[in-house]
Amino acid sequence: MFSDKEEFKQAFSQKLEAKLGKTVETATEVDAYRALGSLLRERIGKKWLETNQRYEQEKEKQVYYFSMEFLIGRLMGNNLLNMQLVDVVAEGLKDLGFDLGELEEEESDAGLGNGGLGRLAACFLDSLASLGLAGHGYGIRYKYGMFDQQIIDGNQIEFPDLWLSREFVWEVRRPEEAVEVRFGGHVSSSEDEDGNLHFDHYDYEQVQAVPYDVPVVGYNSDTVNTLRLWSVEANLDDTIKKAARLNEFGNFLGHKRSLEAISEFLYPDDSHEEGKRLRLKQEYFLVSAGVQSAVRAFEQLDLPWSAFPEKVALHINDTHPAMVIPELMRVLMDEKQLGWKEAWKITQASVSYTNHTTLSEALEAWPVDMVRQLLPRIFMITEEINERFCQSLWKKYPGEFDRIAELAIIADGQVKMAHLSIVGSHSINGVARLHTEILKLREMKIFYDTFPERFNNKTNGITHRRWLMHANKPLAGLITDTIGEDWINEPAQLTDLLAYRDDAGVLDGLNHIKQKNKEKLASWVYQTKGISLDPQSIFDVHIKRLHGYKRQLLNALHIMHIYNKVKMDPSLDMAPRTFFFGAKAAQGYHYAKKIIKLINTIADVVNNDPVVSDKLKVVFLENYSVSLAERIIPAANVSEQISTASKEASGTGNMKLMMNGALTLGTMDGANVEIHELVGDDNIYTFGLSSEEVLEYYRSGGYSSKQVYETDEVVRLTVDQLIHYSPFSKGDTEFQEIYDSLVHHNDEFFVLKDFAAYAASQQQINFDYQEKQSWGKKSLINIAHAGKFSSDRTIQEYAADIWRIAPVNTFK
Ligand SMILES: *Cc1c(COP(=O)(O)O)cnc(C)c1O
Repeated sequence: MFSDKEEFKQAFSQKLEAKLGKTVETATEVDAYRALGSLLRERIGKKWLETNQRYEQEKEKQVYYFSMEFLIGRLMGNNLLNMQLVDVVAEGLKDLGFDLGELEEEESDAGLGNGGLGRLAACFLDSLASLGLAGHGYGIRYKYGMFDQQIIDGNQIEFPDLWLSREFVWEVRRPEEAVEVRFGGHVSSSEDEDGNLHFDHYDYEQVQAVPYDVPVVGYNSDTVNTLRLWSVEANLDDTIKKAARLNEFGNFLGHKRSLEAISEFLYPDDSHEEGKRLRLKQEYFLVSAGVQSAVRAFEQLDLPWSAFPEKVALHINDTHPAMVIPELMRVLMDEKQLGWKEAWKITQASVSYTNHTTLSEALEAWPVDMVRQLLPRIFMITEEINERFCQSLWKKYPGEFDRIAELAIIADGQVKMAHLSIVGSHSINGVARLHTEILKLREMKIFYDTFPERFNNKTNGITHRRWLMHANKPLAGLITDTIGEDWINEPAQLTDLLAYRDDAGVLDGLNHIKQKNKEKLASWVYQTKGISLDPQSIFDVHIKRLHGYKRQLLNALHIMHIYNKVKMDPSLDMAPRTFFFGAKAAQGYHYAKKIIKLINTIADVVNNDPVVSDKLKVVFLENYSVSLAERIIPAANVSEQISTASKEASGTGNMKLMMNGALTLGTMDGANVEIHELVGDDNIYTFGLSSEEVLEYYRSGGYSSKQVYETDEVVRLTVDQLIHYSPFSKGDTEFQEIYDSLVHHNDEFFVLKDFAAYAASQQQINFDYQEKQSWGKKSLINIAHAGKFSSDRTIQEYAADIWRIAPVNTFK
């Protein structure tokens, strides 16, 4: 790439001049970022081309990962890491008077996702390329990504995310690869002379889907895969004609704009589906563009259609892209003239589906009328899929009306996307062992009983390249100094660290790095927020979307409780603690926003009270995002993973924090169960109801939060502070709604029920942290077992069990 820094410096200066007409002396940091980005993008080009040529020559099977979200974050640092250019570029830039770290900060954080689901997709792309596997992402190039959160007077205010206002240097627009996507209209059928039915779609509205390709560079690998983000463009000819036909020429621009709304913004709701028409349009836009593009690539291979599943895998990340199933049927039948049976066999053998949640409010179901009107041909095909499926069930379970009604894809005036996804794919996976078991034995039991062979587990993972090597370079360095560098390609080898669990030198090194990372975060917090923190205090981190089930409220109530304790006894023996929160709430999620307000109110009280200020601090860091996560995680001592058991499908924040040496304080939920199994009781703090207990309470209705409130005095005093006169309520009714949810509406997420157990675990942490050496040992043991949670392991499992792909001559 660049053989040395002199060569880099020359290329960089030339780029500044050619692209921006600037010299090193006149260039701003933004200029330097843009020049560096373009330079790298160009240098990636050769391997990108070669990868695609190799795929074509070898006719390698291609995986297309369909996802409405790719939370990729900034790419500069990660690309440099994967190209192994960090040192050459950093040193070259330094000679020219620039700081690489500062240039990285100039990049917009591409927030094309809400949280865990979108970040998983981004980690998967990194692992696919790094393992030399032919896997690509299909997503939407939202003009506005995840909103920018600001906290004003303690409340969340949302601002649009103008991420494209700064040139996105990595993308390449490819108009020659554009496809057309159709909405609305009518469908008629006719028979040809051989008696075959043909369907004609007319009077539709048509938009162009134009791809912007982003290269995905593998670590130390020859492979550069593609993240293809689709953007809508109105076909001006059509738009003008339509406006003329409707006699609304004056509103030509309005019509154009309404078409272009499709890829305008990301729906900022995590785990909640609203059933909005524009969202359905977005989903079909992605699906239709992606399927047509994948089919086009397959046709280049000149193989019979029956070979499609051997050459193409279409994976759907949750049910949002489930219309891949009827869309592939449509293309194969209506455009390629295949019969139903053959098309169905191909579709089912190509499509696989990941389930991400069992929360009922997150399950997609579209009103029949909406689908029929917006996507008439897709609706017809879905009806036919349902018809044939129900007939096959009828043969298998004659007379079992109830069972068939429960399994049907279309029922009660709705199209159930999870049912469509299960029926139309050959593999259905959950994202952690416990989650998959809950799917099989409860939520999807009836489907599991019908198609047991389709269900499997793939525990989530995270890329150790971004989350350890890039975010925490000193720790990665210590690991390599201790056990050599094989762990980088084989993260399972991190277990070699276990041999050093009692090595004072290694533990000192580890504690020292954590301390430095904490000082760095503390000084950033001071500079940006003016809050001064004690870097010796326990850094206790709760970062994730704000949601009732994630129970930030449990943490907040507990902080109120500690505050009360210190106020009563200012000389209380406790390790000083800093609680960090980062969390966005969906705009319309009123309750979640109240919890943000509560946390900020607590922060305000605690941070300004001299009696507690050397023991306790609370920091709400606004605009939680990938780049903010990269700042916080290396500095964490405690990782809060305290969801109501059974509710968090896997979690991936838990894995990032563990890999950076934080100890988990968590419920036995999601992947916490697997973390616990690996590190053992001594190296994790688990507490609270089990998933069985929670599910049993929901079933029996046997929980009474009022009873906890009445019998547990600590709970009652704390909860009462939400509404009675207290430093937190200040006599206001601001938090009445939270109080009511806990006391009068039976505490849906078992916050009060788990409070005492949570407080006891926190107390244990308070003692254990004071033993520096043994805390370091626990931390090391967590890092040593984190290799299992590299997304490389996850992707190897998907590759072997679901997609059936293998690398072809990759590592150098
Ligand atoms: C990892 C990550 C998440 C997911 O966090 P969980 O704790 O698993 O919910 C959400 N948002 C961002 C920015 C992340 O990096």
